[in-house]
Amino acid sequence: MVFVFDLDDTICETDAYSEYYINKFFKENNWNYQQIAKVTRFAEAKFNWPNEMAKAWYKKYGDEMMLEFSCKKDAIKTINTLYDNGHKIIIATARNYDWHSNPEEITLQWLKNVGLKVSKVYIGRVDKEIVCENEKADFFIDDDISITKKVSEVLNGKGKQAFLMNSDFNQTQECPSNVKRVSGFKQLMTEISKYTDELKK
Ligand SMILES: [Mg+2]
Repeated sequence: MVFVFDLDDTICETDAYSEYYINKFFKENNWNYQQIAKVTRFAEAKFNWPNEMAKAWYKKYGDEMMLEFSCKKDAIKTINTLYDNGHKIIIATARNYDWHSNPEEITLQWLKNVGLKVSKVYIGRVDKEIVCENEKADFFIDDDISITKKVSEVLNGKGKQAFLMNSDFNQTQECPSNVKRVSGFKQLMTEISKYTDELKK
């Protein structure tokens, strides 16, 4: 079967770690930007700094930070087991050169560092619904509500499903009707095993 996974805040802990790093660099630079929100779609929006400044910061420190991201509980074990059992594991991340200095090299290095087994990686401004169509995905997992909704519309056919991975941001948002919300990788596997006998073993 074909699995397409998002990376940030689906497999790795991006938002919380980014917030920590933003605060760290505010301190180092004696910047006085204030935190104006606790939960936003992206960490930089939690602070009252100009977008250009946030972008410049990310360009400078984002690569270093991304290499330090930790994985969500059971992510590696779950995905590597699927891979070892012959399933196709595709990563589709929207990391791009607008915000990142070196998204491709850093992402591939991080995957190697954490030991995640993957069949294919899409990095950049790719439409994930097109990736899922082209790759004939069976399952799609992402923390973004609008993306999971779009993908769910192309995952036609019995036994195919888009999942919304719980995050601080999306947990207060409504999950689209044909998308299933999961709290983590353990629940994801329980849900997926309902679709296929192959995964019940
Ligand atoms: Mg994400």
